[in-house]
Amino acid sequence: MPVTFFAEHAWVGGAVASGVVIEVSGGRVCGVRTGLAAPPPGAEVLRGLTLPGLANAHSHAFHRALRGIAQRGSGTFWTWRETMYEVAGRLDPDAYLELARAVYAEMALAGITCVGEFHYLHHAPGGTPYGDPNAMGEALIEAAAQAGIRITLLDTCYLSSGFGAPPERHQLRFSDGDADAWAARASELKERAHARIGAAVHSVRAVPAEQIATVARWAAERDAPLHVHLSEQPAENEACLAAHGRTPAGLLADRGALGPRTSAVHATHLTGGDIATLGGSGTTVCMCPTTERDLADGIGPAADLAAAGSPISLGSDSHAVIDLFEEARAVELDERLRTLRRGTWSAAALLRAATLDGHASLGWPEAGRIEAGAPADFVTVALDSVRTAGPPPELGAETAVFAASAADVRHVVVGGRPVVRDGAHLLVPDVPGALSRAIARVTRP
Ligand SMILES: [Zn+2]
Repeated sequence: MPVTFFAEHAWVGGAVASGVVIEVSGGRVCGVRTGLAAPPPGAEVLRGLTLPGLANAHSHAFHRALRGIAQRGSGTFWTWRETMYEVAGRLDPDAYLELARAVYAEMALAGITCVGEFHYLHHAPGGTPYGDPNAMGEALIEAAAQAGIRITLLDTCYLSSGFGAPPERHQLRFSDGDADAWAARASELKERAHARIGAAVHSVRAVPAEQIATVARWAAERDAPLHVHLSEQPAENEACLAAHGRTPAGLLADRGALGPRTSAVHATHLTGGDIATLGGSGTTVCMCPTTERDLADGIGPAADLAAAGSPISLGSDSHAVIDLFEEARAVELDERLRTLRRGTWSAAALLRAATLDGHASLGWPEAGRIEAGAPADFVTVALDSVRTAGPPPELGAETAVFAASAADVRHVVVGGRPVVRDGAHLLVPDVPGALSRAIARVTRP
C-alpha cells in the first residue's frame, strides 16, 4: 500500500524545500515533489523540518548504564573503563535485550533511524560461549527490531589486553581466542531487513597485528563495513610505536585494514602522516565529540582529515548523551575553540555527516537522503519549540544543527512506518521507565 507524507519543510538534495510530498511504497521513497501549497488528501502531515533519518555510527549500547555514574568525581579513561567492565560483567542475553531495546528506543526518540553497534561482549563471564555463540549479538539485533530502528551489528574481534598480552579477567568475555575463531562465529550471523552485519577490530591494542588482516579479509569478502577504534588515547600510540615501530594508523594501513569501507573511530591523536594515510585511503572517520569530551580524550583533527579525503560520521559512543545534533555542532564548535575561527563546518556539511556519510559508513549507502529509491527513513524536527522558534524555515538546517536538541524530534519514520509520533515512541510505550528498569538490573543487582 503506497503511503503519502507531506513535509511542511524538508531537507532535499542539500537544501530546504517547502511543501514536500514524499510518496512511499514497500518501505522506500518512490517519489518526491516540492513546492505544494497544501497536503494532498490522506497524506500524513509532518510539521517542522523533515531530515533524512540520522545514523548513529558508533554505539556501545551497554555504556548507557554508566550515565551519571561515569560523571562522578574525576578519574581517567582507564578508570572509567574499569567501571564499564563491572557493568559488562552483569549482562546476559536477556538483560542485554532489555537494556539495548530501551537504549535504541531513546535513539529513535532522538531521530536516529540506524545504529552502528560496535559489539564485543560476546560470551558468558569467564569466556564460555553461550548455547548460541551469537546470543548477545542476536539480542542486539532483536532490540533494534523492537525499538523500530535499523542496526549494523559490527561484530568485534577482541583478543588481547594489549599488544600480545592475554585478555584480562573482564576481557575474557570479549575474546574468541583468535581471529579465525572470531570469523567462524561472526559468519553465522544473518542479515535481515532491518539488520546488516559488519566487522570491527576493537583496536590495535586488542587484536595482534598478524591477525588484523584476517578480520579485514572477512569484511572485504562480504563487501561489509570494517570499524576500528583508533588513537583515542596517546598511550595507545606510544605502546603501538614501542611494539611495532609505527603508529596505529600506519599499522592498520600495513595490514590492509584501511579504505572506503573502513571507519576509524575517534582518530584523536594523529600525526600528519596518519592524516594523509587515512584521508588518502578514503577511510571514514567517526567523531564522537560528547564522549571524547566526557573522557577528556582531546579534539580530533576532523577538518584536516576531511581535507585529506576522509568522510566524517558521528557517533554517541558511550552515550553520555544521545543527541546527534549535539554531536554535529560539537565538531564545529570544538574546532572554533581550537582554531579561534568560525565556519569550518557548515550546517549542511554536518547534516551530511549525520545522515548520508553515517549511513554509508554502516553499509547502507542507499540511505540518508530523501529521494526516490532511498529507504523511507526520516525525522521531523520541530521548528516551533522554545529552542527552535524564530528563524525562518530556509535556515532550518542551521537551526537544527546549532540550536535543536533530541527533545525537538517530533516524528520518526523508518522504512515508511511511523516509529515516533508527536514525540512519543509507538513501539516502546514508556522509554524512561524501560531505561530505569534495565539499568537498575545491571547496576544495582
Ligand atoms: Zn567506542
